Amino acid sequence: MTNKILEIEKLTVSFDGFKALNDLNFSMDAGELRVIIGPNGAGKTTFLDVITGKVQPTKGRVLFKGKNLKKIPEHKITRMGIGRKFQTPRVYLNLTVRENLDLVANQNKNVFPTLFGRPSSTEKRTVSGLIETIGLDAKANLQADLLSHGEKQRLEIGMLVAQSPDLLLVDEPAAGLTDEETENVGALLLSLAESHSIIAIEHDMEFVRQIAKDKVTVLHQGSVLCEGKMDEVQNDPRVIEVYLGEPLDK
Ligand code: ADP
Ligand code: MG
Repeated sequence: MTNKILEIEKLTVSFDGFKALNDLNFSMDAGELRVIIGPNGAGKTTFLDVITGKVQPTKGRVLFKGKNLKKIPEHKITRMGIGRKFQTPRVYLNLTVRENLDLVANQNKNVFPTLFGRPSSTEKRTVSGLIETIGLDAKANLQADLLSHGEKQRLEIGMLVAQSPDLLLVDEPAAGLTDEETENVGALLLSLAESHSIIAIEHDMEFVRQIAKDKVTVLHQGSVLCEGKMDEVQNDPRVIEVYLGEPLDK
């Protein structure tokens, strides 16, 4: 029995001969919150693209809960339990916070009761719990276009969680956020990490320090440069070198 949620073996992705990922090996236990850092162009987004089936590997393989994802289309991988949050929030701006969450929560149930009736009380409870988790209780009935960028990010993370994924992928969730919102999003990820496996890709080092309670993986030129606890990684001369000109303490 393996408790690895994700195993990646000798993964290479070439774009016209350029290797965005190069012989990359990676594995992660179920329940981990893994932070992936690396300079621009290191291959971080491509890494997520392969896991979600958006990009096919040129070589190597990706195993999710022991199952090879080769040639499985994106929507099926989503249904298998991998949820992804993109950099820009994708929420329905003309719907309220609660309506956005209701919509996703109900997509996962038998569709007929929700098309022809009101959400059941259990579903309401679940959505209300989620609204509390994402810290938007006071804004539950507010239209999403009135939320700040950070609140939209939290709503979208909530919408992902409503799909009950086994593995949550988030790409630079702190990008463009105020310091206060960055901290809120970090706290949200930490609270979700208690019951989910999460991969968070991040550039903002302060944010990384906030959320990196487990292992950090450093990507560089399409491969894993090193891995370890945040304080180990931060003091690794190889990491300092690839971040030269991009100071770790910004
Ligand atoms: P990161 O997210 O770490 O900044 P990316 O995964 O976006 O890095 O990109 C890694 C490298 O692969 C970059 O040099 C980028 O230009 C290149 N790349 C990414 N996607 C494509 C593509 N579809 N076609 C060609 N090159 C690409
Ligand atoms: Mg990227």
